[in-house]
Amino acid sequence: CTAGDEAPAARLNERPEDRSRAHASHKGSYGDVAVVGGAPGMAGAALLAASAALHAGAGRVYVAPLDETAVMLDMRHPELMFRRPDALEMAQLSVVCGCGGDDAVRAVLPRVLSTAGALVLDADALNAIARDASLQTLLRQRAARGRRTVLTPHPLEAARLLGVDTTQVQADRLQAAAALADRFACTVVLKGSGTVIASPGETPRINFGSNARLATAGTGDVLAGMVGAGLAAGSTAHAAARAAVWRHGDRADRWPADQALTAGALARGTPVR
Ligand code: AMP
Ligand code: MG
Repeated sequence: CTAGDEAPAARLNERPEDRSRAHASHKGSYGDVAVVGGAPGMAGAALLAASAALHAGAGRVYVAPLDETAVMLDMRHPELMFRRPDALEMAQLSVVCGCGGDDAVRAVLPRVLSTAGALVLDADALNAIARDASLQTLLRQRAARGRRTVLTPHPLEAARLLGVDTTQVQADRLQAAAALADRFACTVVLKGSGTVIASPGETPRINFGSNARLATAGTGDVLAGMVGAGLAAGSTAHAAARAAVWRHGDRADRWPADQALTAGALARGTPVR
C-alpha cells in the first residue's frame, strides 16, 4: 500500500513472538505498569487498561486514580495495587495515562511526561496535549532523552493533535499517523478500521485483520493497557505497539460468533460464557 506519494506501508501480519517465560525469571523480569486515569465517574476505563496489562503478562500493575474519593481496591482484580498519582516512582514504570482521565489528567501530565520511564498516552491525555503547547514540548523532549512513548489516538483525537478535522485524518490515515509520529518523535497507533502504526525511521504498518466487534466502549483502554505491558517487558515502542495491535485484533477475530464482545472480557482474553 502507499499513501499518495508517501513512503510505502506494510501489512501488520506477523504473529508476535511467543510469550514463554524463562524458568529463572521472576515478576521483576516482566516489568511494572501503572495506569493513571479514572477521573470521577470514569474509574472503569483505568481498570480496563489495568486488567489488560495484567492479563498481557505485566509483572506488577498499579492503578493511580484521578479521583480522590476512589475506592482503592478492585475485588475482581485483587492483583492490582492502588496508589495516589503523586506516590508513583514513575521513572521505574511503564505508565499508561489518560484512560478516563477527563480534565483532571491535565494536572498530572507535566510530571508524567517528564518522568515516566516508558509511556502510553491515550484519550483525555491526548486531548489535553492537543490544547497545550507546553505539554507538546514536554512530549517532544522525551525522545531526546531516549524515553519510549506510544500515542494511541482514535481519529478524532488524532485530528485534535494535528489541528485538522476528522475527515482529513480519515482521508489519508497513513499520512496522518506518520505526520503525528514525526511531529512528536514517537510511535503512533491510529486506531479504527485498519489501525496504522507509525514510528520515526520505521516502515508504517497497517492492520488489515480485526473487525467492528471492537466498536464498543472500553476496547481502546484495553489496547492501551496491552501496549503498556509490552513496554514494561522491555519491547521497543514500535514493537510493543505492533504486538498489542495484532493480539487485540486477533482476539476480536477469534471471538465466538454467538457472544457479544465486551471490553472487560477482551482484557481477560476469554469471552464470558
Ligand atoms: P476507542 O476509540 O479508544 O474506544 O478504541 C476502539 C478500539 O476498537 C480501537 O482499538 C479500534 O481500532 C478498535 N475498533 C473500533 N472500530 C473498529 C472497526 N470498525 N474495525 C476494527 N477495529 C475497530
Ligand atoms: Mg478511547
